[in-house]
Amino acid sequence: MLERFLGPRRAWRVRRHLRHCKLTLLCLVLTVVVLRGTIGAGKFGTPEQDLKNIRDTFNHYRKRTEPRRFLEESSGRVSATNSYNGFDVTSVMVDEDDGEAEPVRDPAVPYSLGPKISNWDRQRGLWLRRNRGFPNFHRRNKPRVMLVTGSSPKPCENPIGDHYLLKAIKNKIDYCRLHGIEIFYNLALLDSEMSGFWAKLPLIRKLMLSHPEVEFFWWMDSDAMFTDMAFELPWEKYKESNLIIHGWDHMVYGDRNWIGLNTGSFLLRNCQWSLDILDELAPMGPKGKVREEAGKMLTRELKGRPVFEADDQSAMVYLLVTQKEKWAPKVYLESTFYLHGYWGILVDKYEDLMETYHPGFGDQRWPLVTHFVGCKPCLKFGDYPVERCLKQMDRAFNFGDNQILQMYGFIHKDLSSKRVKRIRNESSNPLEIRDEYGLLHPSSKAVKV
Ligand code: UDP
Ligand code: MN
Repeated sequence: MLERFLGPRRAWRVRRHLRHCKLTLLCLVLTVVVLRGTIGAGKFGTPEQDLKNIRDTFNHYRKRTEPRRFLEESSGRVSATNSYNGFDVTSVMVDEDDGEAEPVRDPAVPYSLGPKISNWDRQRGLWLRRNRGFPNFHRRNKPRVMLVTGSSPKPCENPIGDHYLLKAIKNKIDYCRLHGIEIFYNLALLDSEMSGFWAKLPLIRKLMLSHPEVEFFWWMDSDAMFTDMAFELPWEKYKESNLIIHGWDHMVYGDRNWIGLNTGSFLLRNCQWSLDILDELAPMGPKGKVREEAGKMLTRELKGRPVFEADDQSAMVYLLVTQKEKWAPKVYLESTFYLHGYWGILVDKYEDLMETYHPGFGDQRWPLVTHFVGCKPCLKFGDYPVERCLKQMDRAFNFGDNQILQMYGFIHKDLSSKRVKRIRNESSNPLEIRDEYGLLHPSSKAVKV
């Protein structure tokens, strides 16, 4: 038909044009459908939608980075050795410099974690109401919890440190799996000014805002390990509290002691109050002069504090002491069990405890957490003899790991040994034996190791 009016060549062109139009229209319709789906589901949809988001974003970045990868590969000077021992690892450790300068903050502008948020409770409340169907959202008697931990983006400064980080995260994964807790391991410095122990502040804030479904964020240092796999936190007790942290009232509010509480393991509720306390602590964190000066002030004001740059723990004690009316009512200083337990007073007792008690107490009978404060297993130097730190970290790990292994019929030969032995023979009815070793079911009672 078209050929009759336009001639064959022109008709072909018009047909091609029409085909393009059709395709464009189809794309438009598809875009509208997808957009509607995304907007309708809100930013936080089902896990499938989240995964799709991850894929889309990742594809976007992959496309952008491909030319660069090609350049790197073709630039030559690639070592051909298959030996990890002979290879100079520093050549892959160089921090890539993409030519973009790190943003420098005008020192006249006070540091902040981000734009001020003042109606988070309302925003989160609305989100929760809108997303009642969020998978797994309703948990009876137990809030939704995310354990947050992390370490420096770089390899440890000593050759064995990363191995202990691995043990410590394996230990946390075990506890979280048994207790239905999500886990987030951070390996990125989200804010270059908030390095070291201050890195947890921007991290927790970011997670809070990105996970309105999570009620409590449980920060735990990388050098802390669960030593009671059966102990469940007494959630009922914390109904009215926003910050639950190991410590003692008299040591914090009375003595202003810098070790009156420990920020190596604490829980922070996802609410406005928590965003506010993070904002309040943050100005002492920026590395360099600010942190140094704040450190001097904290050493002057707090009992027993050595001279060193400002740390988040001292800042927290200082804040609670100086603004008690504002913060104290929502802070639960927990001392009835070891939400954090100083390793020095615990590690030599493990064998005695095993003689007398069993997991599930969380307190001096069977500490929930053993925290290797001051060992600094990822740095060049710590505050204690390295040999004692490493040996005791192995023992704490094995003490916790025994409670896991025994579910599968094994146990460490002794607390210092990596090797394991069988504690029962395999049954031909494997499912029947399970309940006897109750830890496979977190709700059931603890068992004797
Ligand atoms: N940390 C981090 N990024 C870093 C360095 C440290 O997230 O670049 C975390 C890590 O989990 C570490 C915690 O900050 O355990 C606090 O430091 P550390 O445990 O060494 O302090 P201590 O308990 O000895 O006072
Ligand atoms: Mn620590």
